[in-house]
Parts: sequence; structure tokens; C-alpha cells
Amino acid sequence: MRILIVEDDPLLADAITQLLRSRNHLADTVTRAEMAEDAIEQESFDLMILDIGLPGMDGFELLRRLRAKNRHVPVLVLTARDAVEDRVTGLELGADDYLVKPFANEELLARLLALSRRSRNLTMGHKYRYGPLELDLGARRASLCGMVVETPQREWDLLRLLVENEGRILGKERIVAELCTVEKELSANAIEVYISRLRPKLDPAGIHIRTVRGFGYILEPWLDDAAR
Ligand code: CA
Repeated sequence: MRILIVEDDPLLADAITQLLRSRNHLADTVTRAEMAEDAIEQESFDLMILDIGLPGMDGFELLRRLRAKNRHVPVLVLTARDAVEDRVTGLELGADDYLVKPFANEELLARLLALSRRSRNLTMGHKYRYGPLELDLGARRASLCGMVVETPQREWDLLRLLVENEGRILGKERIVAELCTVEKELSANAIEVYISRLRPKLDPAGIHIRTVRGFGYILEPWLDDAAR
């Protein structure tokens, strides 16, 4: 993958660059949002790692401008510890995921792989794969290691939404909005119930739905053998 790193801390930028190169990715680093904006205009990147606190234009403003221009490169935002508002703002502005500093190398790699797999999945159609889980969109059938898993309609819809957004946090309001139909209203409490029914079906296979308190849920990135 070709990855653009937007980070003004030279030590961190260098560490991420070395890490990505060690896994055979191409990494370009810029230290200012203005430079990132130019780079995105001129070149094509598979992913962007974006620090929020930057000199001049900050990461939020860059996100806003990219999305306004319909530049849909997947973005992983880096935020300071405990800056919960930053995370929510970033996600609302169209970031695909966030990572809190300091983070473990493997965590960063897993998130990046999840983001790239998700954008690939979206172009594949018909079937989603997520580790041992397969969703057959045509048959509306979920299977784990080849065995069909019972998923009544709401659970199926929720599971599909989680897999489509693998590695990205889904707000409860968004889930409600996506799953509501004209016939049936859904409450945030009902979402919790469906999540609690899905978990025991998925957990034994190592697939975990994590609660992001005060915001929603995330299907934790599946670690490929290569990332373990
Ligand atoms: Ca910074």
C-alpha cells in the first residue's frame, strides 16, 4: 500500500515510516496539512494517517476540506490520550478510524489492514469475508468456518453493517438510522439487545464487537496471520 503520513512530530513520523517500510508499504511523510492537501491532489494514496494537532491548518480542517472535495482516501486519525471530543469530531468529519497515542505498532498495522480490506470489500460485491466469518449478501446468510450461523433479520442487518464498517466505530444513531424500516421503529436499547445476541455467536471464533462507551460499537480488526 502507499500511505501518506501527516505528522509534525519528527520522531513519531520517522517511527511510523520505518514500521510501514519494514512491512513493504510505501510511506510518504509531510509535516503540515497544507502539504498533505497538495500531495493528495497530485498523487494517489491508499490510506492516510493524520495527526490532529498540526501547525497551521489542523487535521480536522484538512479532513473537512478533503471530504468537501470528494477525496475519499481512507483516513486513520491520531489523537492525544483522553481527547474523546477529538475522536468524535474526527469521525463526524469523515475519518474512518482513530488511534490514541501512544499506540502499539501491531495495533497501527491491524487498523490499517482493516481499513484497506474494508475499501476492497466494498468493491468485491456479493460476499464479505472477515476472518472465519463469511456473509453471503445474496442469500443473506452468515457462516463461521463454513457452518451457517442463525441470524434473524435484525441481527443479520446489524452484522452486515458491522462487517461493512470493519475497524470503524459505528455510532448508535447511525446504526438506528441504517436499520430502521418503514414498518418498524428501532431504539438504541434494541441495538444493545441485538449486539448482546450476536456476541456469544461470534466470540468463540475470536470475533469481537467492542463497545465504545458513549458512542457506539466497533468490530475489532481481524488480525491476518501476517499481522500476528
Ligand atoms: Ca502534532
